[in-house]
Amino acid sequence: SSMSSITEVSLRSAPFDCFSSLIGPGGARELTELAKRASGQLHGRTWWHINSTSRGGGVAEMLQSQLAYARGLGIHTRWLVLGGHADFFKITKRMHHAFHGALGDGSDLGEKEQAIYDATLKENILQLLPLIKPGDIVLLHDPQSAGLAPALVKHGATVLWRSHIGADVVNEHTDLAWHFVGHYLRHVFATVFSRKEYIPEFLKSQRSFVITPSIDAFSPKNQNMDEKTVKSILVHTGLIRGEAWAEVLPRFTREDGTPALVTSKADIVREGTAPGWETPLIVQVSRWDPLKDPVGVIRGFVNLILRVVSVDAHLALVGPDVTSVTDDPEGRAVLDSVIGAWKVLPAPIRQRIHLVSLPMEDREENAAIVNAIQRHAAIIVQKSLKEGFGLTVTEAMWKGRPVVASAVGGIQDQIVHGQHGLLLTDPHDELAFSEALEKLSHDQCLATRLGVQATERVRDLFLTSYHLEQYARVLDAIDS
Ligand code: UDP
Repeated sequence: SSMSSITEVSLRSAPFDCFSSLIGPGGARELTELAKRASGQLHGRTWWHINSTSRGGGVAEMLQSQLAYARGLGIHTRWLVLGGHADFFKITKRMHHAFHGALGDGSDLGEKEQAIYDATLKENILQLLPLIKPGDIVLLHDPQSAGLAPALVKHGATVLWRSHIGADVVNEHTDLAWHFVGHYLRHVFATVFSRKEYIPEFLKSQRSFVITPSIDAFSPKNQNMDEKTVKSILVHTGLIRGEAWAEVLPRFTREDGTPALVTSKADIVREGTAPGWETPLIVQVSRWDPLKDPVGVIRGFVNLILRVVSVDAHLALVGPDVTSVTDDPEGRAVLDSVIGAWKVLPAPIRQRIHLVSLPMEDREENAAIVNAIQRHAAIIVQKSLKEGFGLTVTEAMWKGRPVVASAVGGIQDQIVHGQHGLLLTDPHDELAFSEALEKLSHDQCLATRLGVQATERVRDLFLTSYHLEQYARVLDAIDS
């Protein structure tokens, strides 16, 4: 088979000025100072990021905007995506589940898998070493790239490893995951986790940082969008019906500031017609992954409409086109199982459920469509069984939507129950889930209050500016 090749993602340099409108001129000035100091300390060295995909999922989403701002702040940073074949990504997806404390497909993570993993990363290393200079700083993201650490340390780079996932409680699966990657991390400068609960016992004697994930308020995913644009994007992509809005251009602003149009359509599994603008839409946006529990969302929704006849809501499960997320091989099978669960429902219920795969060729267009869907949603749900952090929750909160989400992983750091959304103590409890939906459907006042408070929560804690500040402190530690 051919080599697994490293690819570089080209990055813009984004101006940071606009942040004063979010965090105040004082906050923006402080961060600029911090970044100046960090870039001075780099002394011409490069700050590399290496992960396993340039699109789909939270990590790619964050790197795209954060690194552009870091560049705008004068920090020389570059982003590489490692290459691998299907057998490699099957193993790393299995590891991903294990890190969440879940079984996944239950396949082995033994010596044979370790050999495939090592061989793939060895091919990547051969291409990396000529690019990375001794002294450069390399931040490796997630288990896919952990095995690159020893060779890079030996090469003279300052290596950090960041895990964006973790488990609330350790079990045999997390033990297996750490057994697989732990030994690669022996000589890294530091590790980074999204929550302190995710730091494993054996790493507690080494340096580690906790950095909370964040969203970019100006990206196509989160930028302001007026109601007409939201409508026209949703009509254009096929999510809702409404002739009147087809004439308004489905416009969004690209990351480089230029205007663009949504031209692609979504691939929607549904029966009957699209809902109208007035129909309340309950939405979950997620990769097609069993840990996002899409079938559980359907069951909870069915529960709701069987119990509460006055609710006229529809449900949309929204995810990426399954062929597009190269480091997630499970997409097709999960979507098929969702379609299977939907097919056997009675027709009147089936007609209220829409299974939406979004076009992915143009990452920014995809983001604009997600933006419109999130803004239109009456309620956003994230019924994850496990969740590293859950950027979809942050995105919904920023848009002032009432959220119903499982009290798992990083979602617990984002939402205080009853203040910024509603939490489900037991993510498997589909009755409690449908009760939370019922409550929000009937109490507009509560829904509005949660939405307003959610926006403020994100402004305080989960914006890119805060994230960059935490990164600047990590860079600061490297030279001191
Ligand atoms: N996402 C997207 N298009 C989709 C589905 C998801 O852009 O069709 C994005 C979503 O908006 C969010 C990210 O993928 O920014 C998912 O991040 P999250 O932390 O919620 O979960 P992960 O996929 O990393 O497990």
